[in-house]
Amino acid sequence: MKSARILKPNEPLSFEEIETPKPQGEQILVRVSAAGVCHSDLHLWEGGYHGPQGTFMKAEDRGVKFPLIPGHEVAGKIESLGKDAHGFKRGDSVLVYPWVGEGSCPACKAGDENLCDKPKSLGVYQNGGYAEYIIVPSAKYLVKLNKLKESEAAPLACSGLTAYTAIKNSGAADGELLVIIGAGGLGMMAIQISKALAKPRVVVIDIDDKRLDEARKLGADFVVNSTKEDAVTAVKGLSEGLGADAVIDFVNSSKTSLSGISMLRRRGRLVLVGLFGGELQLNLALIPLRAFKIIGSYTGNYRDLVELVALAEKGAFKNVVSQTFKLNEANKALSELKGGRVLGRAIISP
Ligand SMILES: [Zn+2]
Ligand SMILES: [Zn+2]
Repeated sequence: MKSARILKPNEPLSFEEIETPKPQGEQILVRVSAAGVCHSDLHLWEGGYHGPQGTFMKAEDRGVKFPLIPGHEVAGKIESLGKDAHGFKRGDSVLVYPWVGEGSCPACKAGDENLCDKPKSLGVYQNGGYAEYIIVPSAKYLVKLNKLKESEAAPLACSGLTAYTAIKNSGAADGELLVIIGAGGLGMMAIQISKALAKPRVVVIDIDDKRLDEARKLGADFVVNSTKEDAVTAVKGLSEGLGADAVIDFVNSSKTSLSGISMLRRRGRLVLVGLFGGELQLNLALIPLRAFKIIGSYTGNYRDLVELVALAEKGAFKNVVSQTFKLNEANKALSELKGGRVLGRAIISP
């Protein structure tokens, strides 16, 4: 099968014909129709994440092994099933749940495999979807698609799910002021999901007017360009000086997280999602005095993905796929994303 692999960090992906895997036991082989291009793919490609004080957290130190086929937002059609795989048949249109765990830690037992102590996520720790086919360990990681197109479904597995779970973790209720920092793919998804789950007043903060216009079209009640006005002042101005009930930071840099915590009202919740990296200096006395909650939110569990797909099947939100690349254009797709030139979501379609 055709594949695009990371052989070494920071080197162009290698396009090679490799042996098509055969599904064993409970495994299922899926023919990839669409693989979303995600910022995490970029981090893998660059070999890790930026930590505090200029440090770098290497992906290989966290158990990632190269060569690796990246791509964790995968939808396609079932090609073949291992002899112990049940519940699906050849030709079924499916979305792959990629946040696979080892199965026995407390998180896995609670059904939160995305928070597993020893993750085995597809496209991160095991081969993913930048290829013609992907092996899925079990039918329990598949969500059947009905009306939804595979190209529209693919980004739900990561960006959609991350946005969905972040909204849930924010606890944003009807009438509350919810701030979304970052109007990229996740932010755009989050605006729509927040309106589908409850009726908060949504403020979107970004540094790009074009993105903010799009955010407005997708349902944002207020938008703030933080290069033109002070975001904290703007949010306080929308809440009689009190601040936001919840802030979801899809960037999560030193700058945005500090601004996020500064715009929270008493009892507010700050949900940190983005993996930009950096550090945050906190006024510790303020945390108990104002009873803030700081919540880390990472992807989501299988149940949430099933709920999210059901919402998407009902047409609760608009497709944000903006660009489609061929498999042999994977390097270009990653570079476009890195350069901030992708509005919405890019997918690779082998
Ligand atoms: Zn586990
Ligand atoms: Zn992702």
